[in-house]
Amino acid sequence: MKIFKFGGASVKDADAFRNLAHIVQEHGGNKRLLIVVSAMGKTTNALELVFNEAYQSLDYSQSLRTLHLYHTDITRELFSGKDHQVHAQLEHLFEQLQNSLHEIKQISDYDQAYDQIVSYGELLSSTILHYYLQQQNLKNQLVDSKKYILTDNSWREAKVDWAWTERMIKRDLPALLEKQLIVTQGFLGGTNNGYTTTLGREGSDFSAAIFAYCLEAEAMYIWKDVEGLLNADPKHFENTVRYPEISYQETIEMAYYGATVIHPKTIKPLANKLIPLYVKSFLNPAGEGTKICDCKFEIIAPAFIRKEHQCLISFSAKDFTFITEKNLGTIFNALSELRIKINMMQNSAISFSICTDVNQDRLQQLLLTLQDTFTIHYNTELTLTTIKNYNSSDIAKIIQGKEILLEQRTRTTFQVVSR
Ligand code: ASP
Ligand code: MG
Repeated sequence: MKIFKFGGASVKDADAFRNLAHIVQEHGGNKRLLIVVSAMGKTTNALELVFNEAYQSLDYSQSLRTLHLYHTDITRELFSGKDHQVHAQLEHLFEQLQNSLHEIKQISDYDQAYDQIVSYGELLSSTILHYYLQQQNLKNQLVDSKKYILTDNSWREAKVDWAWTERMIKRDLPALLEKQLIVTQGFLGGTNNGYTTTLGREGSDFSAAIFAYCLEAEAMYIWKDVEGLLNADPKHFENTVRYPEISYQETIEMAYYGATVIHPKTIKPLANKLIPLYVKSFLNPAGEGTKICDCKFEIIAPAFIRKEHQCLISFSAKDFTFITEKNLGTIFNALSELRIKINMMQNSAISFSICTDVNQDRLQQLLLTLQDTFTIHYNTELTLTTIKNYNSSDIAKIIQGKEILLEQRTRTTFQVVSR
């Protein structure tokens, strides 16, 4: 069996849905197929906005109306009959969303409340996709991924209970797949007391990998608006090249350094079961794309990865002592408590520096926690550039004309924080 994952761009308008159905027809084969879908277009961002307005007791009606219109316009274009079931289902979901927003302040934990609202994007898109494929004679069942992907309550980046999840998926889904396709939501999980969780922004790739792992799929496909896995983001770099084939290891590292093409958690479950991952273009489905698998190449094109909105924080002990393991322990504990992730770090005799994504709230909390023990300086709006498999001319190109705040290199990887 195969897993297809379609991201937001592949369901962003009515034409995108038509194209998707075409891909399922042409490339789904007569094999068993499970389809994981993300929220339509930029819906998740829009839901974040609605949620924040509601959580601050602001008027969110306009933002909600825009979201509602976006979904109903596309649905009207896709379904001929005015009284097709899909319309009632959509209204029902929007009513539920409205009610949840109304009561959102009853959940005191911000992140928990976030998950209950922002998850609606996938509920909407999967419902529309289910009915649309049905209309195109692609018989399918809509499966609620919240009931199959069991997680803990680390809201907004929930951890999967693999044993339970695998047992449930294995128990129910293979039999369903004998009779029809399955459509399910990316990004979502559920706790054992009925709350919705999310797996982290752009987490639908990971969802698809969870299903692939548990069903021991023969292959997983991610359909994107690029030709495959490129060595750099064409928005920031010229002359990009596509990797026809690349190893799990290289891909994990690229995702770790911030390449946004695949969610970082996606590769491990696939690598554990040696399931190949194909990244293909939904605009050119016949194109070769990229195959990510258990392979090894001696020479590989350098990868350029740029992470923006970075913050460089340096700590030095207030009493001018050296940075000790004990100091580091204190800093790491605070970072872990506040869920601040280190993208790069370096220490010297009397100071320790980390580069992280900017999150003003968490940064302020970090300063509060550590300001008694350390003198802390920070700079924001920096860029972290990583070159994997670099050569010296690549480095020269990258740093030219930049103010460099921190630089590091290993045999294979060069990293620089610059302004
Ligand atoms: N819709 C979610 C997001 O935009 C998950 C995903 O697209 O993978 O973050
Ligand atoms: Mg998305």
